[in-house]
Order: sequence, then structure tokens, then C-alpha cells
Amino acid sequence: MNTRFASRMAQVKPSAIRELLQYGADPSIIAFGGGYPDASLFPIEQLNHVFEASILQNGSESLQYGLSTGLPRLRAQIADRMRGDNVECSANNVLILQGGQQGLDLVGKLLIDKGDTILTEDPTFLGALIAFAPFEPKYITVPMDEEGIQIDALERTLEAHGRIKFLYTVPDFQNPTGVTMTLARRKRLIELANKYDFIILEDSPYRETRYEGEHVPPIKSLDTEGRVLFLGSFSKILAPGLRLGWMVASEELIEQLGLLKLAADTQTSTLNMSAVSLYLDTYSIDQHIEKIKTLYHHKRDVMLNAIKASFPEEVIFTIPGGGMFTWLTLPEGVDSQRFMLDHALPEAKVTYVPGATFFPLAPRHNHARISFATQSDDNIRKGMSALGSCLKRSLQKTTVTSVI
Ligand code: PMP
Repeated sequence: MNTRFASRMAQVKPSAIRELLQYGADPSIIAFGGGYPDASLFPIEQLNHVFEASILQNGSESLQYGLSTGLPRLRAQIADRMRGDNVECSANNVLILQGGQQGLDLVGKLLIDKGDTILTEDPTFLGALIAFAPFEPKYITVPMDEEGIQIDALERTLEAHGRIKFLYTVPDFQNPTGVTMTLARRKRLIELANKYDFIILEDSPYRETRYEGEHVPPIKSLDTEGRVLFLGSFSKILAPGLRLGWMVASEELIEQLGLLKLAADTQTSTLNMSAVSLYLDTYSIDQHIEKIKTLYHHKRDVMLNAIKASFPEEVIFTIPGGGMFTWLTLPEGVDSQRFMLDHALPEAKVTYVPGATFFPLAPRHNHARISFATQSDDNIRKGMSALGSCLKRSLQKTTVTSVI
């Protein structure tokens, strides 16, 4: 049959990451490409208990339909946690989502008309580009450095382009770079948003995993005009299979988003919301998060030490203070995707995510995203050492050829 797809489908393409992940299925390959958390951290017994209790003790409610904005008790618990993070809010400012990813889709529906301009960090989270694509936006990108989005460049861009619909940022331990936006830049970002009248979509699923460095308040906590939408998630602090995330925004926006949520999926699973709500009442999620931080801190150190010991000096890497990723910058002219297919996979038996896919407009090819979350210490050492040797061999050859 010749299906007449909607024209928006021209923008919908398979994720390059998913295609590359197929290589990771080979057991002889050490995969650093995925964005999965370490499954050994899932609190299985505790979740088993709260799911069982939700069904046996409260089944008539936890198996029933509920409100599209989410279980009132869970909304209140999330508001409590957000207030603990300096965000003034109540349960009415919280919308429960099917993972943070759903928030990206709903915000796309809420705000993007075809051709509207969205500003993003360069590079940015691929899942956001995938979520926004069906709404056919135009992008303007602003480069990043080790302090987050380059705020002077942002100001110049705003001066030049005038109105934008919203700015999308992942300010904490960004996916893909691992970089965190400084407080000074967050403050200036809010000033610019007020001056140029745009919304900020603050997507921060890694926020609570900081294992090093000073706490930096969320951009939402600096918001004086209700123009920041904060996206949070239980994926990295409990388990992604729960598909539970949340949005914090003005009541007006939450109401509108609630209507879209109703149209999209009626509501998030009542059972999952009840179980997580009971988990938060019964156990200390903060204690659990401490375990996550300890393990990721350790794995980050194993990875960075291995990189320092075996990579050529020309390769630069970020030092994340939380989250799961470091971002490699290879010398100009090295194409990380070609290098992976020609060398990293066959010779070093490792995969990563080539960086080009994270740039909305002009792909830069000499970057790679590497996750240290899921591999064992031994595999991290082995994989980085093999990748380092492979890089050394190949970069030497490049220099020799270029001299010739
Ligand atoms: N935003 C960012 C920056 C992410 O890295 C992810 C997941 N990798 C998400 C949103 C979506 O996460 P989830 O839907 O599992 O909450």
C-alpha cells in the first residue's frame, strides 16, 4: 500500500544512536555508547515491596484511572523535593509524565508552530531533537564551553535574531558533554529571557547525581516571571523502566500541558505512580541516591584515570561532576564515526556515540560521547586502554601523512 504519510513524517528519522547500539549486542564488544543507568543500582526488593503493597492494600485505587495531571500525593511529594532544591512550587505546579521524554513531546505540541525558532546548546540532547522534529521547528544553536552555554554568544544571537520561541538547555551534567552551567550564567540566562521574552525549557534528569563540586541551584529557582519549565525524571535516580518523570511550571502552563497529556495517553500508569509514591513515603530516596553517586563517582574516576594513562595528549575530555558521560574532543579532521567503524570497533572492540548526531545544524565530527555508567571497572580499563592505543596509532599515522 502507498501510505500517504503526514508531511511532518519527513522530519522523523531513526535515531543514529539506536542504529549504532546494534554493534554493542556482540558480547566481545565493550559498549560505552548507551545512555542506560547501571541496573545493579535498581532497588529491586524495595520496589517489589511497594508494587505488591500498592496492589494488595490499595488495588481499587492504584489499578483505577486517575487524574491526567497525576496522582495528587505524588505531585505533592515531588513539589516537596523541588522546594528542597529552592524551587518555589506546590502540587498544582507539577505534572506527572511518562518519563522526561514525554515532557519534550508535550512542550513541542504546546509551543512549536512550523518554522518557529528554538535555541539550543551546541551540542544538545538528541532525544529533544527527535521529540521536537515532528513540529518542524527551525534551530539556532549557541556553542558551549566548560561553563555551559556561552552566554555572550547567546546575547549576540538574540540581538541578531530577535524573537525565539524557547531555549532548550540541559544545565546539569549535560547529555552529551557532562558539562554544568555555572550560577553566573544561569543568572544571566534568566535576565536575557526576561529581556527578550522567551521561555526556558530546563531539562535536568541528572541533577540529583552530583558527586563532586558545588551545588548549583536550578534555573527554575531563579525564575521571577514563570518563564522556566523544569523537567525532572526518576529514570536516573530509581529506574527508567518505571517511565516516570515530571514537569514543574506555572499553573497556567501545567493546565494546558495536562490537556495535551490527556489527549496523548490519558494519564501516567496509576500503579507506577502509587508504587513510587509509597516508595518515597517508606524509604529514603536520598540514601539511595547516595549509593548511585558513590558508584558513578568511582566509575568516572576509573574511566578518567584510564583515559589519562592511555590516550594521546591531543585528545581532550570533559570532567563531569555528576551524571554518566564524558565528551571527547579528537583533533580537527578526525571523523569519530569513521574512526569507530574502521578502528575502534574492529581493533579496540569498543563502541561510543560519535558526536556529530548531537549538533542540530552543523555537525562537528571530531567528538564522541562515552558513558561510564554500565561497564565494570575492568571493562572500563580494558576498553579505554585499547581505544587509547588505537587512537595513538591512528593519530601518529595522520600526522605522518600530513607532514608528507
Ligand atoms: N533528557 C535528557 C537530557 C536525557 O538524557 C534523558 C534520558 N537519557 C531524558 C531527557 C529522558 O529521560 P526519561 O524519559 O527516561 O525520563
